[in-house]
Amino acid sequence: MGMQNPFQNTMTQLDKVAQIKDFGDDFIARLRQPDRDIRISIPIKMDNGSVKIFEGYRVEYNNALGPYKGGIRYHPDTEINEVKALAFWMTLKCAVAGIPMGGGKGGITVDPKKLSSGELEQLSRGWVKMLSDVLGPHKDVPAPDVNTTPEIMAWMTDEFEKITGDRTKATFTGKPIEKGGSEGRGEATGLGGFYVFDTLRAQIGLPNKCKVVVQGFGNVGGNAARVFVENGHIVIAISDSKNAIVNENGLDLEKVEAHKKNTGGLKDFPGAINITNTELLELPCDLLVPAAFENVITDANADKIKARAILELANGPITPEADEILFKKGINVIPDILANSGGVTVSYFEWDQNLKQQHWSEEEVFDKLRPMLEDASKKIFEKARESKTHLRMGAFIFALERIKAKML
Ligand code: GLU
Repeated sequence: MGMQNPFQNTMTQLDKVAQIKDFGDDFIARLRQPDRDIRISIPIKMDNGSVKIFEGYRVEYNNALGPYKGGIRYHPDTEINEVKALAFWMTLKCAVAGIPMGGGKGGITVDPKKLSSGELEQLSRGWVKMLSDVLGPHKDVPAPDVNTTPEIMAWMTDEFEKITGDRTKATFTGKPIEKGGSEGRGEATGLGGFYVFDTLRAQIGLPNKCKVVVQGFGNVGGNAARVFVENGHIVIAISDSKNAIVNENGLDLEKVEAHKKNTGGLKDFPGAINITNTELLELPCDLLVPAAFENVITDANADKIKARAILELANGPITPEADEILFKKGINVIPDILANSGGVTVSYFEWDQNLKQQHWSEEEVFDKLRPMLEDASKKIFEKARESKTHLRMGAFIFALERIKAKML
């Protein structure tokens, strides 16, 4: 969220890449607009009998590489510019991951925590009703994003099936396993982020055993923290939307989770110190992992960041101005469109399994995922080095070359 218009930020990034490499004005101009952006109104009957109308969106940004692909976000601050930015990043992310998918994103302006389960189901089915014409396995394939869950994907799949008769289950990914979901999809974003980090770790000068700070304790941040610890690193601080905690010697994540369940938050976790989310971002550490929202590192705090490197598991956590400040300080940023692309890659596996009526084991899924991310990481590192730029611009060049090759 943050104050800055995230779509404006994506266009600043696009301007920057066009200065580093000549892609031709026509191609860059084409990428300044989504193919289409759709705004819908979704009326639902609230439990108290009143009717409430929610605003929803689907942005289909670019399908040069395949069907539009990208999650659906439920958040009170979600608005069209945020969804457009996220859809733009999805376009590049799918190209980075090397999957035959284009970029899209959806959302509803809503605080889902304020709805009952019945209201949430109506709202989710309502989103599909309004958009069923443009969705489909070969047209546009949504997935979960912030505050949307496998259960929501199951409601949406069911609604789509009722309306269109499509029985492939391939129109939504991130479904529960027993309803056509893929093994490993839940862990894929966090685990994929670790694979990317592990491929680049030595090259960006990080030690074998890193001190890691994670912002966010949701599906992505929580899973990533666990994977880092399983692989011998120490998570010294973590936060949720309300609080943050730090213990220089490392946090026992299982106990942190139990504490959050029992008390409703992270505050006063035994042995740790309570800090603010702002302080968490500024802690000295080897690796900072923003895994929550966009625009958390801006020109206002970039100078205070003391991490040696940053792994962006959230989409767009660093503004373009902050990027330059961090680059000058020698802080390596592993960009979102590479770092969190494990999620959409396993979504693509899910889509593929649905269309082929197969079910792969978790081992098979991770065995396919790892080399894809390693390959993309190495190539992007090289691109950045060749062009004497940072990894984000390396990733942009890499993605735009793939997209351009299909568009002309
Ligand atoms: N919402 C996720 C992302 O931002 C996943 C999208 C997908 O699986 O299609 O990458």
